[in-house]
Amino acid sequence: MAKKAFNDCPADDCSAGSGRQAALHPDYYAEIPEDDRRRIESRTENGVIKIPISRCTYCGCVYGNFPPRRHIFGWLDNGAIGKKWEASSSL
Ligand SMILES: [Zn+2]
Repeated sequence: MAKKAFNDCPADDCSAGSGRQAALHPDYYAEIPEDDRRRIESRTENGVIKIPISRCTYCGCVYGNFPPRRHIFGWLDNGAIGKKWEASSSL
């Protein structure tokens, strides 16, 4: 597999580049089940999300930036699995 640039999609099976990565829209965030949102927010301070959460507009990968690496929370609105949320095993 070609080496990814840091701003490319972090999902192993996605080749989308930086142009397909965007900040996670609040409407999308609201579609994530509450339990999983709590797990994401457990990585924040006082309920304030200090980490940038991004979404790949190609595969739907939702991830946080924890320099020097990124952490995949799951997938939302993926073309193959549909609109539903699928949590990452590492959420
Ligand atoms: Zn992707």
